[in-house]
Amino acid sequence: MVTINIKDLIRKDLQNLEPYSSARNEFSGAASVFLDANENPFETNVNRYPDPNQFDLKTKLSVIKGVRIEQLLLGNGSDEVIDLIFRGFCNPQVDFAVSIAPSYGMYDVSAKINGVELRKVLLNNDFTLDVNTLIKTAREAKLVFICSPNNPTGNSFSRSTIQRVLHECKGLVIVDEAYIDFSEKKSIVDLITENPRLIVLQTLSKAWGMAGLRLGFCIANEEICNFLHKIKPPYNINCLTQDFALNRLEQSKTIKNEIASIISERKRIMLFFEELEIIETVFPTDANFILIRMSNATKMYSELVNNGIIVRNRSNQVLCDNTLRISIGTHEENEKLIHVFKQLNKLKK
Ligand SMILES: *Cc1c(COP(=O)(O)O)cnc(C)c1O
Repeated sequence: MVTINIKDLIRKDLQNLEPYSSARNEFSGAASVFLDANENPFETNVNRYPDPNQFDLKTKLSVIKGVRIEQLLLGNGSDEVIDLIFRGFCNPQVDFAVSIAPSYGMYDVSAKINGVELRKVLLNNDFTLDVNTLIKTAREAKLVFICSPNNPTGNSFSRSTIQRVLHECKGLVIVDEAYIDFSEKKSIVDLITENPRLIVLQTLSKAWGMAGLRLGFCIANEEICNFLHKIKPPYNINCLTQDFALNRLEQSKTIKNEIASIISERKRIMLFFEELEIIETVFPTDANFILIRMSNATKMYSELVNNGIIVRNRSNQVLCDNTLRISIGTHEENEKLIHVFKQLNKLKK
């Protein structure tokens, strides 16, 4: 087991950063006259700056996730959290990061923007992970990204795999659980207590139905969250987002039902695809999408477009030649999808 101080992982020039102190940070307590932030005093619902600590929203999330609020850091989408992690921990042109491939495209983009080399460890042909190669490549990496369930492959990686990576690598291990609510496997959030270098990324964009809001978060060790809090833009989560999210998080029953519907539709479409001759492989999935392989995915993609259905052509991703990634829609949308696939199947026979 490698023991490393979180402080030592922080970008050298940021280790003693004094963060911007906002008006709302310097005063906390009860008052009725706020003349401290140069706001327009006339009520518009958004004339005041939002809470930079997102206290109410974090309180709610902490209950849902079973963590302390000090273990939460919210971002303008988890994409912002990914960027903050690169920015805060990687010395540009010096440190490198590692991710599996194929995986989520933002790790690449964020790495590049922050002047960090991202080394890729190719999954096996069946999308399982060669843990030994990952560990060999990532031992000295500042960051290791493991997306589980993985986008675009749909499969997830076991707790023991992630534990091994944590034990044998020296940097931060970021497990992206954007799709965890669709999986039967449970989150690895509980591993954070004994593994201070683990960061779990989650988002309200998928199962929680708030992609348009841009709200993602990480659950991590308190020291990591404190530091990320220092480097984030002070008001990164606006008032409307905080209010809307808080409100929807109260509707846990509705969300649960939506997830259940997506999971049962996923099963239905899987079975349908498995029977269809034009589809060669239906990859197992723990997410709200299915990856399928066929003989000419790009042609199939265009035919779906001609029928008004947009899916994601993943054919140019490594190991994903001739694949489409298809999100699970409502029952009616899925019926349309099935109908079009049946037509295309007939034509090909
Ligand atoms: C969709 C997705 C996200 C979510 O990003 P947001 O910025 O929170 O919308 C994060 N990681 C993966 C792997 C995703 O597929």
